[in-house]
Amino acid sequence: MIVVRKELCPQNHPCPTLTSCPVGAISQNGYDAPEVDNEKCICCCKCVKRCSVFTPIGCCEKGIDKRMA
Ligand code: SF4
Ligand code: SF4
Repeated sequence: MIVVRKELCPQNHPCPTLTSCPVGAISQNGYDAPEVDNEKCICCCKCVKRCSVFTPIGCCEKGIDKRMA
């Protein structure tokens, strides 16, 4: 799963990862810290590579999520 460490996000700009997530799992309310819907997330880890606020727990280091197979 992907955890958003909100305390690390300055919450002052549109989050660029919304458009890079292939399954639309990331949402943002105004300039708040983004949220990840881990039911939708396929652990492609594009958000993790773009910003360290996105923290993988037991997924990115294992590659693509098995649900992709
Ligand atoms: S999560 Fe990262 S990229 Fe997204 S708004 Fe916060 S600091 Fe910016
Ligand atoms: S790991 Fe991939 S699928 Fe999951 S929230 Fe990040 S960009 Fe979206």
